[in-house]
Amino acid sequence: MRKPVIAANWKMNKKVDDAQAFLDQFIPLVWNEKEIDIVIAPPFTVLHTVANLLKITSVSLAAQNMYFEEKGAFTGEISPAMLTDIGCTHVILGHSERRAIFGESDELINRKIGAARNFGLEVIFCIGETLAEREAGKTFDVLKKQIQAGLKEIPHNGIIVAYEPVWAIGTGKTATTAEAQEAHEFVRARLADLYGKAADETRILYGGSVTPESIDTLMACPDVDGALVGGASLKADSFARIVKYNK
Ligand code: PEP
Repeated sequence: MRKPVIAANWKMNKKVDDAQAFLDQFIPLVWNEKEIDIVIAPPFTVLHTVANLLKITSVSLAAQNMYFEEKGAFTGEISPAMLTDIGCTHVILGHSERRAIFGESDELINRKIGAARNFGLEVIFCIGETLAEREAGKTFDVLKKQIQAGLKEIPHNGIIVAYEPVWAIGTGKTATTAEAQEAHEFVRARLADLYGKAADETRILYGGSVTPESIDTLMACPDVDGALVGGASLKADSFARIVKYNK
């Protein structure tokens, strides 16, 4: 039985006051949701504030990125040790915006995943094809390569995979349930190539314009174990509704 995960990716949004106002409203709305793992990934600058506000809750704190080194001359970077020190239990790695805008390669992402796991951070590992790749019939090739390279020599525990078709991120275009299920089933089969039976325990999240309106049908897919939510996680009532899908 895979426990669902609903994760918020705030991206480069919210200052300290905004984060505080969000949590003041959000926490009472989800206080009793014990059957779902809820994760919030704020920007680095509000991790400290959010960590303090989440202390007495079961909501987990994630970072949106990190570097693989522990410390040293890496100007502008944040290490896994710094993230655990501030109270993060999770980190998002391989997000398509990191891949496309900041040029992150599968190999770099693999090193980051290894470092995160060495420090006990659970990794939300993002993969997904672009529109051009889907239209060229390359979706499965892309997913297979990202999985094989990103998870090379990484043990299965502590890995959550997020399938995020790039054409659905921030576009208002959600994958159909058939498209999502087909991709998730393929991802689980490729995880089984690496991990055998343990792939049945790996949570695979869907990400890409998830809304309170689309979450119920997505969560009804047998291989969709949760969601990584960008835009619709910025408002407390909308994110709480996604957490409480089917209620
Ligand atoms: C994301 O950035 O991971 C994401 C899925 O964004 P959105 O929900 O806004 O498409």
